[in-house]
Amino acid sequence: MKRLIEGIRIWDGADRLIEDGAILIDGDTIEAVLRHGEALSSYELPPSVERIDGVRKLAIPGLINAHTHLYSSLARGMALPGYSPQTFTQILEQLWWRLDKALDAEMVRVSALVGAMEAARCGVTTLIDHHASPHAIPGSLTSLRQAVCEKVGLRGAFCYELSDRDGTAIRDEGIEENLEFLSRDDPKDTMSGALFGLHASFTLSDDSLAKVAERIPEGAGAHIHVAEGPEDEDQCQTEHGVRIVERLRRFNLLRERSVLAHCLHINEEEKDMVADSKAIVVHNPRSNMNNAVGVFDMDGFLDRGITVGLGTDGLGANMLTELFTAGILQKVSTGNSLTAGFGDLQKIMFDNNPQIASRLLGAQVGRIAPGYEADIALFDYNPPTPIDAANVLGHLLFGIAGHDMRVSDLIVSGRSVIKDGHFTNLDEDALYAHAREQAAALWARIS
Ligand SMILES: [Zn+2]
Repeated sequence: MKRLIEGIRIWDGADRLIEDGAILIDGDTIEAVLRHGEALSSYELPPSVERIDGVRKLAIPGLINAHTHLYSSLARGMALPGYSPQTFTQILEQLWWRLDKALDAEMVRVSALVGAMEAARCGVTTLIDHHASPHAIPGSLTSLRQAVCEKVGLRGAFCYELSDRDGTAIRDEGIEENLEFLSRDDPKDTMSGALFGLHASFTLSDDSLAKVAERIPEGAGAHIHVAEGPEDEDQCQTEHGVRIVERLRRFNLLRERSVLAHCLHINEEEKDMVADSKAIVVHNPRSNMNNAVGVFDMDGFLDRGITVGLGTDGLGANMLTELFTAGILQKVSTGNSLTAGFGDLQKIMFDNNPQIASRLLGAQVGRIAPGYEADIALFDYNPPTPIDAANVLGHLLFGIAGHDMRVSDLIVSGRSVIKDGHFTNLDEDALYAHAREQAAALWARIS
């Protein structure tokens, strides 16, 4: 199957912007990217080629959310009587751990569906998810994969967030779910990947981490929250006499494929240790601001050459507004309007996030260039000012993010997920109506 997007403005994700160009897709791969007037004659174009009108649209590489929680999708608007957290741990206790305990298998499935659909509308083609549903663990990761990858059509890496907080029987189910899903991960399948999920150091005993260290496959990565709130480091030093990153190192969890989310309260030595390990660090600015847990040391991580990615932590799905926030958070916190410039932000979103997706899924993504996977987001965007490869970040942040624009079309692995503003294979209204019913049932369990 071949697709041809014509008459389109294309940013390749790096240093090339083409006016009135064309993208030829062959199967799951980009075959050619043509400038205006460049002939298609050297390419084989069957009569069945699907033509997509790209006039007044901007094509960018599909976006990647490097840390999210699809299970939070049904929390939007939920009332929580008596909610008055004073600490980050109390936010978890009074909100997220009440919510995840109430999820059943159908709610998990529906959360993933609507979460992935909203991500798709924001131009996201890959989700790296961290899942919790302590009373519906077995099969939950397969259910997520089916919802995200098969039903909606996005790429995803999945794991179950292991924790001691619900007792050893549920902890053991979490270990088995991670191992079972990892064992069925097909390295040739670039749509889906697997990690070993852990909640955070402060909810995991040495006994639990020892079990993980013993059984996690060689080469597999862990996905864990690290020092999101200050109490994670405090508890680690009090209970275990070490800091978190050292504790993870001792249990052999600092790996090239490991995802360390947040890392707000780790010290300079720990940052060095993360750099040495080549582990991935994912920044989630809006979640950190919403939980009032602290500010990420963006320069400290980037200067060490650490692969810093960007995620939403489940707070929304819009990666471009998340990137915008990442920039202004650094500016306001340092008092320096020049910090977190377009270069750093472009690196995080358009170099590092694709590198993370490549490392975890084996998919070559992040560029609109021949040979890359055809993961492409199209925005209806008619720029009111000149646009080129040097200023495209300004257009993405102040135009598309600033006006909260959604994609007109989304292509993942060469398949059309959204076309002319509509999902090609989903009845969005029916799924949302079902999600509202499931959310009401979930809220009734919690209140
Ligand atoms: Zn998280």
